[in-house]
Amino acid sequence: MDLIVRNARLPRGGEPVDIGVAGGRIVAIEAGVAAEGETYDAAGHLVCAGLIETHIHLDKSRIIDRCPPVEGRRVNPVMLTAPLKKDFTVEDVHARAERTLCECLVNGTSRIRTQVEIDPGIGLRGFEAVRSLAQDYRWAVDLEICVFPQEGLTNYPGTEPLLVEALRAGAPVLGGAPRYDTDPSRQLDRIFALAREYDVDLDLHLDVGDTAEHMDIHHVLALTERYRRGGRVVVGHMAKLSLLPPAEMAAMARRLADAGIAVTVLPATDLYLMGRDQDHAVRRGVADANLLAEHGVTCSLSSNNILNPATPYGDCSLIRIANLHANLLQVSIPARLRELFLMLTEHSARLLNLADYGLKPGNPADIAVFDAATPEQVVTEIRPPLAVWKRGRRTVTRRPPELHRPS
Ligand SMILES: [Zn+2]
Repeated sequence: MDLIVRNARLPRGGEPVDIGVAGGRIVAIEAGVAAEGETYDAAGHLVCAGLIETHIHLDKSRIIDRCPPVEGRRVNPVMLTAPLKKDFTVEDVHARAERTLCECLVNGTSRIRTQVEIDPGIGLRGFEAVRSLAQDYRWAVDLEICVFPQEGLTNYPGTEPLLVEALRAGAPVLGGAPRYDTDPSRQLDRIFALAREYDVDLDLHLDVGDTAEHMDIHHVLALTERYRRGGRVVVGHMAKLSLLPPAEMAAMARRLADAGIAVTVLPATDLYLMGRDQDHAVRRGVADANLLAEHGVTCSLSSNNILNPATPYGDCSLIRIANLHANLLQVSIPARLRELFLMLTEHSARLLNLADYGLKPGNPADIAVFDAATPEQVVTEIRPPLAVWKRGRRTVTRRPPELHRPS
């Protein structure tokens, strides 16, 4: 064999096992694999098939130094970012996205769906840059592109033909942001029609705002049914769910589960942007992913924005995002903490319809060893990865910090 990862503790628990790898694929998972080859002793640490970032904006990461700081409670990140986009060259987007991508990699992520903005302001430069980045880093990550109109579709002439050009060029996922359209419902109509025409999955930004009086999810539910897109629709944010009483939230969760609509919760951005209408007792505004999951919704947790006006923070650690969600939603029960880890791994794979994810024979040997014994310990203590492999090749090594005691 090319590699044997010994004494690996799997997320489901049980006694540690050995993982045998040949030709970039997992060929054995059992105790005491009898084979020769390069060996890594995981020493009983938790091992998973790598973390999955289902929603990040690589193209507009790391621009916070270009945006003048704004005083006051109200912020509009899209308005702050829009004027900068005309100066985004392919090289500039590539360089910033690459720095962010490398941070994702060293934090244990090896599969990513990235949102990429398309409109007459940026043209296809962001798309081109991220597409070439995906090629450059194929050795470390599967990078899938979701193209979408950030500044509106129906109100921004020229946007739809560019989206179509990107879809024709092979963009596998289409997104939307109806909140920034003067006609949110018509944007959703167009996006669903395009998704059918080009046979692509959908991944929409949805329902961020100060009240839950109007929610676009109702229209998305109707369109998902009309176009029979169940299982191929993801909605990101859904911050307004956090404003609903538990019974209404549960009813909505069941409708989403029945319709086959998955949800990506983006705690860092929603915590930063929600409650801007309040000056005290500010609402947290983050949808409860555990509650959604309890009612059968496929959920993931993701980073969304890194160092830009929508989220001026970020180290690209998905584990930290899971910890943030746990902290915000006051999650302490081990089974729920464990579920948050699954929302960075197995549940995310289901959300992205990945057929070849997971530690089992036949799958690509994507393997990550964490400095912890259990998924819940990874989440509560923000334990980092120690080693990561992509298709059987080592891509990351992280050494625990050392304390130098006096002798
Ligand atoms: Zn987003």
